[in-house]
Amino acid sequence: MQEFEEFTQSPKLQHVRYDVRGPIAQEAARLEREGHKITRLNIGNPAPFGFEAPDSIRTTMINNLAEAQGYSDSQGIHSARIAIAQYYQSRGMTEADPDDVYLGNGVSELISMVLQAMLAPGDEVLIPAPDYPLWTGATTLAGGKAVHYICDESNSWWPDPEEVESKVTDRTKALVLINPNNPTGAVYPREILEQMVDICRRHNLMLLSDEIYENITFDDAEMVNACTVVRETGDDVFTITFSGLSKTWRVAGFRSGWIYLSGATQRAQNYLEGLTLLMNMRMCANVPSQYAIQAALGGHQSIEDLIAPGGRLYEQRNTAYRLLSEIEGVDVHQADGALYLFPRLDPEIYPIQDDEAFVIELLRQQKILVSHGRAFNWIDSNHFRLVTLPNVEDLESAIGGIAEFLSDYRDA
Ligand code: PLP
Repeated sequence: MQEFEEFTQSPKLQHVRYDVRGPIAQEAARLEREGHKITRLNIGNPAPFGFEAPDSIRTTMINNLAEAQGYSDSQGIHSARIAIAQYYQSRGMTEADPDDVYLGNGVSELISMVLQAMLAPGDEVLIPAPDYPLWTGATTLAGGKAVHYICDESNSWWPDPEEVESKVTDRTKALVLINPNNPTGAVYPREILEQMVDICRRHNLMLLSDEIYENITFDDAEMVNACTVVRETGDDVFTITFSGLSKTWRVAGFRSGWIYLSGATQRAQNYLEGLTLLMNMRMCANVPSQYAIQAALGGHQSIEDLIAPGGRLYEQRNTAYRLLSEIEGVDVHQADGALYLFPRLDPEIYPIQDDEAFVIELLRQQKILVSHGRAFNWIDSNHFRLVTLPNVEDLESAIGGIAEFLSDYRDA
């Protein structure tokens, strides 16, 4: 019989990583097939933890199913885009227009398209470390180079604008902000945003602001939309704001996200033609969930109650923080926003060489799945991320398991 060559993956995937759903998730699935119950603290997916979407979102989608059977305009249906434009108008972007809004199958698809349309081989994108790893993976896949700026754990996990600027080269095309941040839970103060905007201004960079957690902040943390800072300081930086229904509105499975363009859009016409081409090539975003957007943005959607003292997200985040802080050699910064904590294990006490192997060992022993820090392009092997979505009882039991595992590790 004739021997054929193997089918192999494209070399362009060689350096693309997305470890949060990599070997750690495969090992969890294997253990589940063996009959073990795994506590999954690895993915920011609210619904499986009993966070139901507001009724109005689901019923609007269902009621519009008949309308939603065909393709829509590639940019998205008008009623959703006008609702999003009004959402930004109410945040101070008074001239936001539906034409400035593009809908996608979650922020994920839009991140990929925005970068694919932008990057020539070797172009650089400034991305935070730690990051939500799709930003690095999608930059690499688009032929670009992810250049990481370090967020400072000793300073509330905020970036240092001087360090950011020191990484700008003549190949740098864009600066990514993730605010509130996944995985650290940091919320950036206005002064830092002003300095980041100023870096974009002076070096002619696009500002890409991932604000998918913008409505999930705690206590007196103030969420400032980067586009408003641009507007107030000259409106001269081309800004793409990313958000969607997955987190605040708890319908991650609907795959519904958007981008909103503002600032120096007149200098981005050629770029936007490219982006529109990519949007057209994939026809449109999932149409039934586009119909959910207007209902979602329209009013009180109970996230307000979840993040206030006494609310589920608030109390769970406090419990997780308190219990983790009590473990010997664990330092954790309290999250000001989002759904995660990113604790540090003191390397003197826990000299971890390979954090992925460490997390897999925790999984095998305690049946608890967290994500290792390097999966977020972090620079050392002494961090992990856990989601604060389980109820208080489940968090107590899971963090109890983590404490037991760490105690055995210390004694070994
Ligand atoms: N951006 C950040 C910072 C995220 O944490 C996530 C998901 O966890 C996404 C984007 C992707 O969201 P979507 O469900 O809209 O694709």
